[in-house]
Formats: sequence, C-alpha cells, structure tokens
Amino acid sequence: MKIPFLRPNLVKKEQYLDYLTEIDHSRMYSNYGPLNKKFETRVINEWFQGDGYCSTVNNATTGLILAISALKRTNAKYAVMPSFTFSATPLAAMWCGLTPYYIDICKDEWSMENKSLRKAIELLGDDLAIVIPYATFGSAIDTTGYEELHSSGIPVVIDAAASFGTTTNGAQFGQTFPGCVVYSFHATKAFGIGEGGMVYSGNPQTIQTIRNNGNFAFSPQRESIDLGMNSKISEFTAAIALATLDVYKQKIETRQKIHAWYIQYLFENGLAAHGWRTQKYAGHIPYQFMPLATPAKTNSLIIAKKLRRIGIEARSYFSPACHQQQAFCSQPHGGLGNTEELTTQILSLPLWEEMSESHVEFIAHSLHKLTKGKSCDA
Ligand SMILES: *Cc1c(COP(=O)(O)O)cnc(C)c1O
Repeated sequence: MKIPFLRPNLVKKEQYLDYLTEIDHSRMYSNYGPLNKKFETRVINEWFQGDGYCSTVNNATTGLILAISALKRTNAKYAVMPSFTFSATPLAAMWCGLTPYYIDICKDEWSMENKSLRKAIELLGDDLAIVIPYATFGSAIDTTGYEELHSSGIPVVIDAAASFGTTTNGAQFGQTFPGCVVYSFHATKAFGIGEGGMVYSGNPQTIQTIRNNGNFAFSPQRESIDLGMNSKISEFTAAIALATLDVYKQKIETRQKIHAWYIQYLFENGLAAHGWRTQKYAGHIPYQFMPLATPAKTNSLIIAKKLRRIGIEARSYFSPACHQQQAFCSQPHGGLGNTEELTTQILSLPLWEEMSESHVEFIAHSLHKLTKGKSCDA
C-alpha cells in the first residue's frame, strides 16, 4: 500500500466551463472583473451570513503583506506571532519592514498563548506594531481577546490560511472580526484552487484599502497614492474559485468523514493510552491533513521515517518552527518551551478526499505497532 501525504483534487474543467464561457463574453480577464465580484459576493452571503467584507488576493502570503501593511502601527518595529506557524507569517511581516517577535503556544490547542502575549505586549510597548495569531490547522481560535486588543489600538491580523470553511454554530470563522483575517486557497488547502486567497474584515474601510493597494494603490485618477502592488487574481482563477464554491460543502463533508475515521481507528487502537495526542480545538474544520503529537520523549521525524518504509508518507508541520529556521533564528522571542516540545512530537498524517476507510485503518494500525516497538516491515 502506498499512501501519499496529500493528493490535491481540484474541480475538473467541466465544472467551470460555463464560467469560462462568461469570460469569453465579458472580455474581462482581471482587475476585479465580474466573476471575481460574483465570487466575493457569494463568499460573504453563503459563508459569512452576509456580514462583513472581503477581497480576493493572489495568495495568502500577499494577503498577509497587504493586511499587515494596512493595519500596522507606524513607527513601531515588532510583529508578535507564534513560532509554531508556516514561514509565510514571519516572511510577510518582514516584507512590511517589521521584525517578528515569536511567542509560545498553548500545550493543547497549539495556538498562541495568552499569557505569553500579555508579556510581549508589556515588554514591547510602543515598539509593538501588530499581533498576528495563527488559527492553527484550521481551528476556530477564540477571537474575543483579539477583538478587544484590536479595538484598544493594537492591530490584529489573523493568519487563518487553513480556516476557510471552518464554522462554529454555522458562522464562518472570522465573521465580524474588526481586524483582518487571511485565508489561503492554495492547491494543498481544503478550498484549493491552485493559487489564491482572500482577506476578510468586518471593517469596510480596511478591505477598500487592501483592494486598492492590491491594484497599485491607484487613486481614481490612476495615480499611486500608497505602497501598492499587484495582488489581483485573474478571472480564470475566479472561475475555478466559483466552481469550488459550488461543491465546497461536499468536499468538507468528505474531509470530516475521513477525520472521523482517524479518530475512531486511533482510539480503537489505544493510541491515547500510549501517549499520543490530538489537537484540542473548536469549530467544524475542513481538515487539510491529520495532525497528531507522538508520545513524550519520542521523535516524530523518526516515526515519519519508519512510516515511509511501509509506504505511508507523513510530514511534520510545523517542525522546524520558525525560530529554528535560518532566515528567522536571529530574531527575538519569548519563552518557547511548549513550541520546542511540540516540534519534536508533531506528525502530520495523510488526508485527501479519495482516501478510503482501509487507508485510515492501515495507518492507525501501523502507528499502534510502531508505538509498541514492533517492526512494521511487511
Ligand atoms: C498555506 C499557509 C500560508 C500561505 O498561503 P499561500 O496562499 O500559499 O501564500 C500562510 N500561512 C499558513 C499558516 C499556511 O498554512
């Protein structure tokens, strides 16, 4: 049995042919054209209950740059973020001229820890430019504190790259958030369209700024009036995005079914008793992959290597954590005890839409055998 880590399954061309025909008629190929407009309107109506504003971007990294750039406090230096995130988060802050300041995560939720955040805010004072939490692995992190922070004058941009489609009580994660929430539509995310992303805000002015800055920061007279760039998606990308929206609920159901198999088989095989841990999280998540922490004093990289030998491709997102990578290791940080512990234990297991129950059963069974120290060589 060969089980790849991911097997992206984007909508097929037949599903967006009608949208492509609309492009042939409109002769609009970019610049926030009619399909882009239709996509943004549908996203707000179908996922955000008609509440708030959004702008598409050509990927989430650009979205983060535009959001940070629009909201950061001027004359301040630091972007506070977890080290346990994808490198796009610190890279985006650096492109905005900021220095990342890494803080620790909670032991169980694997997202930014409140106590560490308070400490950083106190320590950095007026040098704090922005706070960038990460909604870890698509989870609906508690945004109440961040809303208060944003309203108190410390801007917040949430990296919610894997959280488009994550809901709590039927509401999309991020709905009404007054700062910015950035989602990725990369092929490897649940809402995969190839390359793409979206910035959401409850504040219309913020989205207007981001949309405008993503189009060279043009004034109505086509004069650049700010630090603009080109972050627009083409109408062809919007066509694929619309077709993906047409089937997204089914895609989410499929992903949740596979995740439920994981929980069932991992627990049936007694992995919890052996010290394996799943993430503690809130929300209904369109799982991108299956994250798991291996037992204390094990090394997930060694387990991943053993899995590879029996045909199971596993990863270790996000190990190394940001502060352990060459581009970031000289940047300042608070205590990172939980982060460093988790990076030795984090294991990302395969999850893709055509996975069968027997794939999941085989993976759970293999982990069980590894944990008991038996050889799994077939
Ligand atoms: C995928 C991801 C990104 C980057 O998204 P792109 O659309 O590929 O730029 C940023 N942050 C996190 C946490 C991600 O998982």
